[in-house]
Amino acid sequence: MKLILLGAPGAGKGTVAKLLTKVDGSVQISTGDILRGAVTAGTDLGKEAKGFMDAGDLVPDELIMNIMGERLLEDDCKAGFLLDGFPRTIPQADALEVLLEKIGVELDMVVNLDVPRDVIYDRLTTRRTCENTDCQAIYNVKSMPSKVEGVCDKCGSATIQRADETVEAISKRLDTYDEMTAPLADYYDKKGKLFTVAATSSDKVVEEVTNNL
Ligand code: AMP
Repeated sequence: MKLILLGAPGAGKGTVAKLLTKVDGSVQISTGDILRGAVTAGTDLGKEAKGFMDAGDLVPDELIMNIMGERLLEDDCKAGFLLDGFPRTIPQADALEVLLEKIGVELDMVVNLDVPRDVIYDRLTTRRTCENTDCQAIYNVKSMPSKVEGVCDKCGSATIQRADETVEAISKRLDTYDEMTAPLADYYDKKGKLFTVAATSSDKVVEEVTNNL
């Protein structure tokens, strides 16, 4: 399947994407994961992106399109892809359309994960992420804790609260989402691609998406 997962930070895009990869082997492509990997590796991309990310701002469109222009051409995307956290602005969506047309690929749908704001706040402030960039497993201290507090079940690395998951950074990210990314729902609705789901349970979202493909 070829999907975009749209939704505020904490709406569950990553969790839903991981579940959907198991349905048909489509790959999850998370621009946030790619950027965090670059920050940890200390690459030029990471150095350029870090300040924006820590402040809860979006990384410039040009950097993102350079990443995605290459990533979508990789072989594993032929099985399908789940875009998690991209596009996040209208210019990114326009550039994606040009890119997909060039490679002769059509999107199946844009899944809009709809979650109340108070649920999102709670999810993000209680979220912990494995600091190993090859793993980046996600836990939640309330609803899905690791077996040993602070230690990743999968790889044994430390689980941490991300710098952009402090209360100030979260408020900024949600404001940025409302201003820059939420208009994409209307953008894709006009193209007849939007599928909005109430995203309180990831399993339910996966069921609804697969039933509507
Ligand atoms: P995420 O894990 O998707 O919430 O992304 C973490 C941070 O990476 C965001 O707050 C942005 O600073 C940056 N980022 C990720 N994806 C994009 C994108 N498509 N456009 C611009 N910035 C992005």
